Amino acid sequence: MSAPGFRLKLRKLLIKMDFMIEVQDLSKYYGSVKAVDGVSFRVDRHQVLGFLGPNGAGKTTIMKILTGYHFPSGGSALVDGISVTEDPVELKRRIGYLPETAPLYGELTVEEYLNFIAGARFVPRHKRRAVLDLSMEACGLSGCRFRRIETLSKGFRQRTGLAQAMLHDPPILILDEPTAGLDPNQIIGIRSLIRELGKRKTVILSTHILQELEAVADQVLIINRGKIVAQGRPEEIAGDIKGGDTWEICLKGRAIQAGLDRLGFVYSRPRIEEAEDGTARLSFFVPGARGVEGEAIFDWAVREGFKILMMNRRSLSLEDIFVHLTCGEEIAAGKDITTGKEIATGEGLKPGGKPVAPEDGR
Ligand code: ATP
Repeated sequence: MSAPGFRLKLRKLLIKMDFMIEVQDLSKYYGSVKAVDGVSFRVDRHQVLGFLGPNGAGKTTIMKILTGYHFPSGGSALVDGISVTEDPVELKRRIGYLPETAPLYGELTVEEYLNFIAGARFVPRHKRRAVLDLSMEACGLSGCRFRRIETLSKGFRQRTGLAQAMLHDPPILILDEPTAGLDPNQIIGIRSLIRELGKRKTVILSTHILQELEAVADQVLIINRGKIVAQGRPEEIAGDIKGGDTWEICLKGRAIQAGLDRLGFVYSRPRIEEAEDGTARLSFFVPGARGVEGEAIFDWAVREGFKILMMNRRSLSLEDIFVHLTCGEEIAAGKDITTGKEIATGEGLKPGGKPVAPEDGR
């Protein structure tokens, strides 16, 4: 093997070990429209990444490039070590894709449809029964396997779309607005399904709904006009702005996660770091509108038998951040987005705690 060939293989191997998805300086033109403009990001294995952005931001285009349906105009994207431009067939084997409008056939039953998809994805006949059962069970469809798809509610049609995406057990799921048009109960169901899937798979999902990402995402990219304008953990994005709504607590006690489940008002995925000396640091994001007071957290800690060593609150809603990042140039102009007042340089939103350089879009 030639030296460059060997280097390429080694690079792919290293990336495979480190990141599931690595996108570098990606761009896409539709004619003269620049839909994606120098986007770079990485996604770890078993991480849920959320794309958040207004209509026309470029979310779907990035997803279509990652799934091999569109060719990029520039830059590179490696998915599980495979270049999206070099091996689209192998790429599609590694990815389960739920487009904005799931490709369903209404006249088929759920089982007939999934069986058809399994055939199209070359799932061997002797494995199909097990594969179908597994995907229907994971998506809560077992009770309606013999129902025609056109008779299902929108939530269950969306579940059927998810079941087809995960049918061939891909390590990566790409879900374009999986909860669009669903009612609140259906949204809760799909969110918890995504959370479950995120434990075993790498998931990218897009949405316009901030709470969606606060509930399921490990990392958020806020995209506007084809560029990344902020990135980081949901609570980091909120917490890095003045007056945030993030609670940071240091306490003494065990089984923090179990206790936290009984807190009742946690909005974001909590972050917990337990130390060997029996202390733990936790942080979570609570929208200010919920009116959660320190007293309630204190009472919860007493109920659970935890001793609070430190409590700190930073507040601001992610909604505010989003609106200002995608609609205005206030941040770039150095204004505090809560007050609109001038702020000192470097105090604006920082993706993952770091400023975004406007030139490279990262
Ligand atoms: P939405 O939330 O509305 O789905 P999005 O963030 O997914 O939006 P894209 O669908 O990726 O955004 O669109 C990004 C830009 O590219 C928009 O200006 C859109 O009009 C344009 N665009 C998308 N697809 C095409 C296409 N096939 N031909 C021409 N322009 C396109």
